[in-house]
This record gives sequence, structure tokens and C-alpha cells, in this order.
Amino acid sequence: RIVYVNGEFLPEEEAKVSIFDRGFLMADGVYEVTSVLDGKLVDYDGHLTRLERSLAELDMPEPDGMDALLEIHRELVSRNNLKEGCVYLQITRGPADRDFLYPETPKPTLVLFTLAMTLRRSPKAEKGLRVISIDDLRWGRRDIKTVQLLYPSMGKMMAKHAGADDAWMVENGHVTEGTSNNAYIVTQDGTIVTRQLSHDILHGITRAAVLRFAREAQIKVEERPFTLDEAKAASEAFITSATTFVTGVVEIDGVQLGDGTPGPVSRRLREIYLEEAAKQAV
Ligand code: PLP
Repeated sequence: RIVYVNGEFLPEEEAKVSIFDRGFLMADGVYEVTSVLDGKLVDYDGHLTRLERSLAELDMPEPDGMDALLEIHRELVSRNNLKEGCVYLQITRGPADRDFLYPETPKPTLVLFTLAMTLRRSPKAEKGLRVISIDDLRWGRRDIKTVQLLYPSMGKMMAKHAGADDAWMVENGHVTEGTSNNAYIVTQDGTIVTRQLSHDILHGITRAAVLRFAREAQIKVEERPFTLDEAKAASEAFITSATTFVTGVVEIDGVQLGDGTPGPVSRRLREIYLEEAAKQAV
């Protein structure tokens, strides 16, 4: 695999980052994951805009190469002959003597690599996901897409040990989001409910697109917190993220939703999203 590190395309074995990199020592970094369908980037502008916001919120300077990011993405997709999967991008504050204070003249690190994945015909999407609930123990700025992913990673392990696919995180009785996705329920009268944007959740790029498509399809949308009990009594549930698109949730803490298969609203939104995403990919 060919990867990109600070201005160079290299075989992954030759790519190097300093052990003093603040991304490595302090999780002082941000990232983006952009899906690739038919060799094209889905919702690239949305990911770029959020990346710039993450950098600004952390006073992290833009690395060299920032003005050529789309070309770098495309070059990497092409060099790896990637048809379906994603491009992972990470920017850290770069190497510096270990200190809690930011370095005065930071040299940010920019890394990109590709991952081949089956996205459209994912078996998980056909079967639907089983989720468990866990306390949301993350920090208070989940709207910034940082590489501090230890708690979400623990959450995924807890789900695995419980025989489930993922965990929904709960704070003050209300669901915030999944470990790596936004969370939705569909009420018995067909309204989609998902938590409103704030510092409590990541502002999903897929979320924004899916809510737009839902409204265009005359489906009612409410952006508000929902409880776990409300979720367990819902007619269906689903998640969204760049690599899962829209994927149905069929079980929450062992409680089956509907007939135990992805519901009609989830399936319809997945179809609409896939069609539109592929159309608009660059
Ligand atoms: N919420 C969290 C915590 C995430 O990690 C992610 C994606 O990685 C999302 C939501 C979904 O965001 P997006 O649709 O931009 O992939």
C-alpha cells in the first residue's frame, strides 16, 4: 500500500513519524474518514470543512499540503487502485519536546492512507446491528474529531464481549451517539429522532446529508435528545457514518426492535443515501 506522509507518497514500510509526535504522546491530533465509492470521494467538501473547524477549535496550524488535499486524496486512491473503502486523514501538532504547553513553532504532521472495504454490500447492513448501552465517559468536546479514541474503543470491546456489534453511549439518561456513528430512532408514527448538534456529539457529515434527504422525502425529523427507554420502544433505529452510510439497528440491550430486521425507513434512507452519495462523489 502507498501512503502519504508530509509531502511524500511512500510504500507503507518506508513511512516514518517521530516518536516525539504529539499525536503519539498526547493524542494531540484530529482526523477525517472519507468514504470511496467507485473510486470517488463521497461528501469531500463536508469532510474538509469539518477538518478545518477541528483544527481551528484546537488552535492547530494547517500543515503543508492543506491547499492540495483533494489532489492528495485522489492521487492516493488512484495509486492504490481503490474502488471501494475509505481514505483516512490525520493531522497532529507534530513532533516537539514533551510538554503540556503547545510548541511555539509547531510543524504539524499530515498522514493519509487508504483502506479497502466492502461498503455497499455490507453483510452487517443487511442483517442490522445489535447494540448495547454504556455510560458516555468521553470528554466535553465531542464535536471536535480528535484521535482520542480510547473510550470509544473500549465501548466497542464491551459490545463485542456482550455479543453485540456496537455500543450506544448514554449521558443523563439520554443517548448521545454510537462509538463511531450518530444514533437515530424512528417513532411509532414514523418521525426520525436524533440528538441536536452541540458539543455533546460529533457533527456527522453523513448525518447532515441524511437529515436533508429525509426532509426532502417528507419524513418528519426531530432533533432532540431521546432516552434509552424511548429507543427500546421505537419502531426502528439506525446509525449513520461515512463508512456505514445508514445502517439499521435491530436490537438494543437485548430488546428486539420491530421484526428484528432493518426497518423500512432505515432501508429507504440507505438507498437514497447510496444513490445520492455516488452521484455527488468527486
Ligand atoms: N459520531 C462519532 C463519535 C464518530 O466517530 C463518527 C464517525 O467517525 C460519527 C459520529 C459519524 O460522522 P461521519 O458521518 O462524519 O462519519
